[in-house]
Amino acid sequence: MARMYYDSDANLDLLNGKTVAIIGYGSQGHAHALNLKDSGVSVIVGLYEGSRSRSKAEAAGLTVQPVAKAAATADLIMILLPDEVQRTVYTESIAPHLDAGKILAFAHGFNINFAQIVPPDDVDVVMVAPKGPGHLVRRTYEQGQGVPCLFAVYQDASGQARDRAMAYAKGIGGTRAGILETTFREETETDLFGEQVVLCGGLSELIKSGFETLVEAGYQPELAYFECLHEVKLIVDLIVEGGLAKMRDSISNTAEYGDYTRGPRIITDDTRAEMRKILKEIQTGQFAREFVLENMSGSAGFNAIRRRESEHPVEEVGKDLRAMFSWLKKV
Ligand code: NAD
Ligand code: MG
Repeated sequence: MARMYYDSDANLDLLNGKTVAIIGYGSQGHAHALNLKDSGVSVIVGLYEGSRSRSKAEAAGLTVQPVAKAAATADLIMILLPDEVQRTVYTESIAPHLDAGKILAFAHGFNINFAQIVPPDDVDVVMVAPKGPGHLVRRTYEQGQGVPCLFAVYQDASGQARDRAMAYAKGIGGTRAGILETTFREETETDLFGEQVVLCGGLSELIKSGFETLVEAGYQPELAYFECLHEVKLIVDLIVEGGLAKMRDSISNTAEYGDYTRGPRIITDDTRAEMRKILKEIQTGQFAREFVLENMSGSAGFNAIRRRESEHPVEEVGKDLRAMFSWLKKV
């Protein structure tokens, strides 16, 4: 079993006397900045001129500076911008201020692993990647808990990179839940694989296909929505709480028997072969190249798919139905 590290394994004092710049104030950015501040770390937020997040960050008591100034001031620079804009912002506003001895940090390995960002070799390069969205990173911290994190060292110029990464993870509350060591390559490849095959790509297609099959056969779309989308959460909550076993304990024997005997007909050897192909495309950089080129050319294909997907009947039905159960918004 891989080792998890907790609060007592990490030393927050390593950030004493250091200024941390959080670049970006989105999902992860706001959570890291506020958690570090509450942990007693000296934090500034770096935003581009005209950012709408500025007033939000200032209202929360944070000091906001333009990205270049924040990068110049800080000892540790955590880049929490969308992955596809990091290269440009890094080149224009961060690299010129990345003096020897500084620490460059990421929450996802994409830009380092695929060499979109190539830092000088006299800085530490580390990753602290919470395994959860930013609002949870913040909410759990406020409750005295944390979200588990991955951490990694890509480059250790100071001889302290690993301890510093662990200190940062402690500052955002990660070591309260436990942190696991990885590499930039492993984190990047497994993260992309997980979101493409299981969490986002696989699940969305499964939901849509199930819904389409029922509607095509003449069943009410509302009913198809409940069966194929709404109940996903109830099942997933059980799986996350207690594994597949807890879910299978809670469902009827009829459902359990259908699970064992029909599931393997949906995910077949063909599906598994495709999963391996997708993993290869990630490992060889083919996916990264495609995504980078798509963004460089103005995202025409990306935007078209986005629009088409938003018009899928499961989305139309869902909008109307969800408006009727207001309790969803409260949880
Ligand atoms: P986000 O989209 O929520 O926030 C991005 C921030 O960058 C916003 O403040 C936005 O205003 C700013 N921004 C957008 N375009 C910009 C530009 N051109 N120039 C300057 N600033 C710009 O991003 P996020 O989801 O918090 O992701 C940040 C990093 O964290 C990514 O590397 C991502 O892979 C990683 N990560 C995200 C999650 C998650 O659940 N969201 C989880 C783990 C790791
Ligand atoms: Mg992910």
